[in-house]
Amino acid sequence: MKPVIALVGRPNVGKSTLFNRLTKSRDAIVADFAGLTRDRHYGNGRQGKHEYIVIDTGGFEPDADAGIYREMARQTQQAVAESDVVLFIVDVRGGLSAQDHDIANYLRRLGKPCLIVANKAEGMRDAAQLGEFYELGLGDVHPISAAHGQGIRSLVELALQAL
Ligand code: GDP
Ligand code: MG
Repeated sequence: MKPVIALVGRPNVGKSTLFNRLTKSRDAIVADFAGLTRDRHYGNGRQGKHEYIVIDTGGFEPDADAGIYREMARQTQQAVAESDVVLFIVDVRGGLSAQDHDIANYLRRLGKPCLIVANKAEGMRDAAQLGEFYELGLGDVHPISAAHGQGIRSLVELALQAL
């Protein structure tokens, strides 16, 4: 069985961009609009001789208002349940948000292997901006740039090691 990696996080943090990197595909819809991905999305990935499956999340109707957070939560829960390891993506430029805390609280209760991934970290020379994400209480924060392909290889190695 290939290990399954779930990508979770609030809208617009770069989950679909990372999915494309990890699967080397253009399958996930990357959008400037939060939440365009309509449903969970599966892809195959490989690094060296290690193969894995990736699940992208973030499907809800852009115009749904009251239902957005419930649908996000449902998507996240299903993907997490199906996965062996969770990559919890946060936006190092946008900073920590209340939604990040909600997701962290959920993940902490589950006790499944989980890595915090600080995306959009291209061009950041020091680790100061990562500091606030340690508040999430899920351990180390791993800076990457999904868009620029930085930090991806070591992230996959860590994720597969965490199993
Ligand atoms: P999702 O809603 O979490 O799936 O986020 P997307 O992958 O659709 O990306 C949301 C926005 O963030 C898009 O405009 C992406 O181009 C942008 N983005 C994704 N990754 C990066 C990154 O590493 N650096 C920067 N600066 N922008 C990124
Ligand atoms: Mg998406």
